[in-house]
Amino acid sequence: MPRPESWLRVTPAGLYCEPGDFHIDPTLPVPRAVITHGHGDHARPGNEHVLATRETIAIMRQRYGELAGGNMQPASYCERVALDGVSLRLVPAGHVLGSAQLVIEYKGSRVVVSGDYKRRLDPTCPPFEPQRCDLFITEATFGLPVFRHPPDRHEIGKLLHSLRLYPERCQLVGVYALGKCQRVLALLRGAGYDEPVYLHGALLGLTELYQRLGVDLGPALPGTGVARDDLKGKIVLAPPGALADRWTRRLPDPVIALASGWMRVKQRAKARGVELPLVISDHADWDELTTTLDEVGAPEVWVTHGREEALVHYATQQGRQARALALTGFDEEEE
Ligand SMILES: [Zn+2]
Ligand SMILES: [Zn+2]
Repeated sequence: MPRPESWLRVTPAGLYCEPGDFHIDPTLPVPRAVITHGHGDHARPGNEHVLATRETIAIMRQRYGELAGGNMQPASYCERVALDGVSLRLVPAGHVLGSAQLVIEYKGSRVVVSGDYKRRLDPTCPPFEPQRCDLFITEATFGLPVFRHPPDRHEIGKLLHSLRLYPERCQLVGVYALGKCQRVLALLRGAGYDEPVYLHGALLGLTELYQRLGVDLGPALPGTGVARDDLKGKIVLAPPGALADRWTRRLPDPVIALASGWMRVKQRAKARGVELPLVISDHADWDELTTTLDEVGAPEVWVTHGREEALVHYATQQGRQARALALTGFDEEEE
């Protein structure tokens, strides 16, 4: 079996699979790209040929229109695609709608590139499916033992409690446009909240796309143009960057909340003026990362995209070969 580093390497445009002649989530335009999911630091426009799930392609088209890429090739989960001497499958990663791990097989060796992933159930996308492999390339956004995300139900309960506590105020929740927004909506519905939820304009397009692709999110209405008094006792979602801007100034005395794995860090919540931090993350926490290493059973692990050292140390202690992969261009704030 050829060593993975002889056919899979880091280039200026990102991780490159030589025998299949494709880049994974390239940071510069390339002839052939395989994209794990639609977040902006993974799915960039301008590649000549793109292979991704149908949902990821729909998200890229929604965001970039005609610039999304030249030839867009959709693949179903678990469909086997031959790319020159390499066999490729996209397997659910449980991160956002359409997100995929890449299972790459070449000359008898199997490599899994996790992309971004989480292990807890998310009503808006199919769950992560662990794949046994020889090399596992994992993200490590929350790769420190201090990161242990509480149950989602607990965090949504905090939001609903605050809503009951302050009938004269509105709950303004910062959510990222792709994934977090729709997950918070779905979690609210799962907790029995069936009132309309009001959305900042920047969240409408992707939320409508999720609904068109069959994800049930209940009534999600534009927040613009709604009278101030009608938003008392209601939940309003906006991108984190818009929490303090002009759009939110007309809201009735909002309780500022933010849904992010980073809300585990109290200083971050404080620095952003967040009154109600909600620890809801679309990335694996420390326990999910380490459990996943055990389940995929790979003798070799490459760690990227976050806090690599602790997970490299953990894997080494488990008797695996592990190293940090120096990939650049990924943005932790997207979470
Ligand atoms: Zn992501
Ligand atoms: Zn990412």
